[in-house]
Amino acid sequence: MAVLEVQNLTKDYGPVKALKGVSFSVPAGTVFGILGPNGSGKTTLLGIVMDILKATSGEYTLFGQVPTERQRKQIGTLLETPNFYHYLSAVENLRIAAAIKERGVEDIDQILEVVGLSHRKNSNFSTYSLGMKQRLAIGSALLGNPDVLVFDEPTNGLDPVGIAEIRELIKRLSQEGKTIIMASHLLDEVEKVCTHVAILKQGNLITSGHVNDILVAENVVEVASDDLDALAAALQGYDGFSRMEREQHSIKIFLPSGVPDLGRLNAYCFQKGITLSHLQLRKKSLESKFFELTS
Ligand code: ATP
Repeated sequence: MAVLEVQNLTKDYGPVKALKGVSFSVPAGTVFGILGPNGSGKTTLLGIVMDILKATSGEYTLFGQVPTERQRKQIGTLLETPNFYHYLSAVENLRIAAAIKERGVEDIDQILEVVGLSHRKNSNFSTYSLGMKQRLAIGSALLGNPDVLVFDEPTNGLDPVGIAEIRELIKRLSQEGKTIIMASHLLDEVEKVCTHVAILKQGNLITSGHVNDILVAENVVEVASDDLDALAAALQGYDGFSRMEREQHSIKIFLPSGVPDLGRLNAYCFQKGITLSHLQLRKKSLESKFFELTS
């Protein structure tokens, strides 16, 4: 069952169209990344789902139903930096957060264990590193043991060690069976921690689905011969490429990621009576694919 299903969601801030008819579905048990450059509408989308903002039009369901307050309470959120008290400890801060969220305090110790703060649970918040503060914020989202977590840019502002810790934590929460929906502008982050992705660009959904289907790097092989028409015709019969592009003096063929067998391609052309004057592999990086999708 889909944890979240978004249908044709739009949001206008006056003349600014932040979301322009976005639809996708988040299957249970996934780590679902909402990926897009700054200003693409990620925060707006999460704000609507958590009822902080009203959509201009469109619908969404949580757990297959029209959302209710009770259902939203089953979701742990980290949408903006929570206001923790600097002169109180992690335990004291989580007790206060639990009271505000009307969630039990009984699992605080276990939460601090999960987010790796047990050893510092009685130190003042003011003495924590940025990474520790962010892990406490995730701990606060875990109060009440929700099955679904929504995080907006969970690694923002952290150093590489802090980023790695949060990513590990997200993976561990996923292994425990939680569904995690997270906004990120970092391709690398989504590639490393997410199983699924929806890519937003200026309020439009570009694509969504399994990360392995969407964020795959392709091999591009450039070939040329004296007679490009004959080469193009011969290549039509070559199996295993996804598409072909004719350039002025060469032909590009796009092969799936992995190690391409250039020898086989060369032998195939030779067998068809074509001698290649040029055969070169150019890797297409994920970055260039993402750039192509979003720019
Ligand atoms: P970022 O990562 O920078 O927060 P984002 O992908 O989360 O970006 P949003 O914050 O949802 O994007 O913003 C989407 C668009 O809506 C942007 O053009 C932004 O300027 C605009 N916007 C957001 N909030 C408001 C607001 N309260 N009033 C007017 N425009 C807004």
